[in-house]
Amino acid sequence: MKKTIKLLGIFVINTLIIIGCENPAEHQPHIHQWGDWQTIISSTCTTEGIETRHCILNAKHVETRRIAINFNAHMFGEWTETTAPTEYDDGEETRYCAYDSRHIETRPIAALGHTHVWGDWIQTLAPTCVTEGEETRHCSLNEEHIETRPINALGHDWGDWTQIDAPTCTIQGLEFRTCKRNCGIADERQPIPALGHIPNTETGFCTVCNDLGYNIGDTGPGGGIIFYKSVYGFTFFTSSDDSIGVKAHYLEAAPTDMGAENGGLSYHYQWPGKKSNRFTVTNIFIGYGKKNTELIEAGKHLNLTINDKIDWFIPSYYECVELYNQQAIIGNLTGSEYWTSSRYDSAGGSVYSVYIIDMSYGSFVRRIYDTCHIRAIRAF
Ligand SMILES: [Zn+2]
Ligand SMILES: [Zn+2]
Ligand SMILES: [Zn+2]
Ligand SMILES: [Zn+2]
Ligand SMILES: [Zn+2]
Repeated sequence: MKKTIKLLGIFVINTLIIIGCENPAEHQPHIHQWGDWQTIISSTCTTEGIETRHCILNAKHVETRRIAINFNAHMFGEWTETTAPTEYDDGEETRYCAYDSRHIETRPIAALGHTHVWGDWIQTLAPTCVTEGEETRHCSLNEEHIETRPINALGHDWGDWTQIDAPTCTIQGLEFRTCKRNCGIADERQPIPALGHIPNTETGFCTVCNDLGYNIGDTGPGGGIIFYKSVYGFTFFTSSDDSIGVKAHYLEAAPTDMGAENGGLSYHYQWPGKKSNRFTVTNIFIGYGKKNTELIEAGKHLNLTINDKIDWFIPSYYECVELYNQQAIIGNLTGSEYWTSSRYDSAGGSVYSVYIIDMSYGSFVRRIYDTCHIRAIRAF
């Protein structure tokens, strides 16, 4: 290779000498106009190269010059491993220049490492109720190889609930619990729902606190809807000859209109008061329906039994007004006009007129031989 390059160089130089611009007979004299240098032979790390340029006025005019050695222009061969890598240390590989074997390049081969052999996880930071812990393991081949991972917070270990304030029928209570680990986090507290009344089903009084246990809209002892409630109570006259009365707190409407209590249609009734009783003194106020009914029925109660109760009666005028007021809660007052047990001329005059309540329009008066619905009620 080296020999070939030298021979070629000699040949080019000789050519320059031979075709020099020496013969004025052949050419008009001129000042050369040189083109660019062109590499004929590249230089290498060990040999010079050659480049030439031609005159553009006469291509036979040529200049030749050497290109200096390029110390980076090696011709390297393949990489070969010269030091094998070990588990921990890098190895090395080397390549040599074809022009001069003293021109050498090296580069590292990464250390081989190993497949870690992990020991058991060991807790290195204990978790608490609310913070993560940490555990660690080491490689048995190299103690500097360490892995860590978090341990979930434990969460509180709550004890049983303890009551602070007992709930009553109407007021909620309070209870608390603490963490068995004594972690210092505040206790947890929660309300205890109010218990609600447990009414005596006959009297309506709560068996626990003795307050009134029913509310308007509840189902009463007679299986109907409670539509009137008096916290302080009202005087309820229990029969035609009761002039003192007892204290009552509730009015309960029968489940259906009279006549429909066995699943049939409701009836239109003439006022059940007898003509012979037309001078009977009745009362319009709450508490008088039962007494009114027995007076106009000549001392009898209504011939009506629902839910084993026989104490139903025709409401007085103001009792019937309460039916009117709560008709949406009662829900099935499907008739329009309902008898009261209160005569229009409550002082017992000669007029055969009775108060009625129209569930759409309110108070009216009807003659005793007209027909209206009856929604019986009871008091307790
Ligand atoms: Zn020339
Ligand atoms: Zn080289
Ligand atoms: Zn390892
Ligand atoms: Zn805790
Ligand atoms: Zn209660």
